[in-house]
Amino acid sequence: SRKFFVGGNWKCNGTGEDVKKIVTVLNEAEVPSEDVVEVVVSPPFVFLQQVKGLLRPDFSVAAQNCWVRKGGAFTGEISAEMLVNLQVPWVILGHSERRALLEKLSDWTNVVLAYEPVWAIGTGKVATPAQAQEVHDGLRKWLQSNVSPAVAESTRIIYGGSVNGGNCKVLAAQPDVDGFLVGGASLKPEFVDIIKSAT
Ligand code: 13P
Repeated sequence: SRKFFVGGNWKCNGTGEDVKKIVTVLNEAEVPSEDVVEVVVSPPFVFLQQVKGLLRPDFSVAAQNCWVRKGGAFTGEISAEMLVNLQVPWVILGHSERRALLEKLSDWTNVVLAYEPVWAIGTGKVATPAQAQEVHDGLRKWLQSNVSPAVAESTRIIYGGSVNGGNCKVLAAQPDVDGFLVGGASLKPEFVDIIKSAT
């Protein structure tokens, strides 16, 4: 009932040429339909519009951060309104690499929660399926008691940290692993195998 979600966090990588190559691989890939898996890629800000323009319509884009308040005299920041204006529907907030603070949420409808053990990010050390399941189950229980049983049931909790084409299947088989947030492997053709682990 929870649609599998695969996010590709490109972090601070790539050139305009790399972007074209990655998007071509994704556009040509045969993957399960958008009823089965939601795919969102997150390029650096400078490439957001380019990727949005080139990317197949069943995939969408995310910004890698946004400013916590309205626009104004905040050099270098990008507001949520600007993302809305560009029709960028998603944003990665509070990634451990930014150590951002998450405001208290009142509406969970459009939230996807990512669990990323810091020791697994970019290290090649992936959590075991049992470890990921234990934490995801704990997060869902937290949602159940602190938000509501309905939100706990419907919120997708995705795993990130050294996910690749080889380890995605066993992780995806866990009942509370509802998708992935992928860093390094999202820049490579094996990202397509990760998308396919939805089925
Ligand atoms: P890696 O997949 O490179 O470990 O990065 C995970 C991550 O931080 C995704 O946001």
